[in-house]
Amino acid sequence: MATYIVLLGPPGVGKGTQAEILAKQTGLIHVSTGDLFRENIKNQTELGVLAQSFMNKGELVPDDVTIAMVKDRISRPDCERGVILDGFPRTPIQADATKALLNEMGEDLAVVPYITAPNDVIIERLSGRWTCRAHGHIFHEKFNPPATQGVCDHDGSELYQRDDDKKETVKHRIQVYVEQTSPLIEYYRKAGLLVDIRGDQEIEKVTQDLLDAIEGK
Ligand code: AMP
Repeated sequence: MATYIVLLGPPGVGKGTQAEILAKQTGLIHVSTGDLFRENIKNQTELGVLAQSFMNKGELVPDDVTIAMVKDRISRPDCERGVILDGFPRTPIQADATKALLNEMGEDLAVVPYITAPNDVIIERLSGRWTCRAHGHIFHEKFNPPATQGVCDHDGSELYQRDDDKKETVKHRIQVYVEQTSPLIEYYRKAGLLVDIRGDQEIEKVTQDLLDAIEGK
């Protein structure tokens, strides 16, 4: 049995940062749909060109292409022991598809940590966020600064501010989250999989809470 985890929560709550840390500590593979889309945009693939038109506006990329991309990614051999899904599923259709996909593989979700923080915290986190050009490593100018300004600690590549982290797009992304993704909170609560995690704590404390949730403590 492999371990499949969905990290649920609004944009900017720390899912990406925590997924990176958890992947290192658990050996599970971090699968971020946002990172996969950004990779496709960088390489100017057909999928990237399509995704970019939605991402720039803070809208969701259509379900069918997103689901196909995730299916392809999680069926690769490196995901054999399991994955941490970050930013997916984001709609009830994607959640149903996740279940179907895992069931086809004879698997199921282990747990869905739901990370929350007040809106003003989220907006502050997003507007101070810097992302690494090469691999999407995440920093924050105040809460998690790199050792050298503008340079990724892990691979030395340039840090940049994502277009969709600019203020107007951030507000729209939060609205899209409330309208399209927040129904998943009840969806997974009803399924008995949801564990509430407070995201407005020190990074290390959030990680510990997540590890406890994963280990079923
Ligand atoms: P993220 O890096 O998770 O904040 O995602 C950045 C953007 O990628 C989102 O605002 C969407 O445009 C797109 N995206 C990421 N994941 C999904 C998904 N599961 N479904 C649809 N669009 C997505």
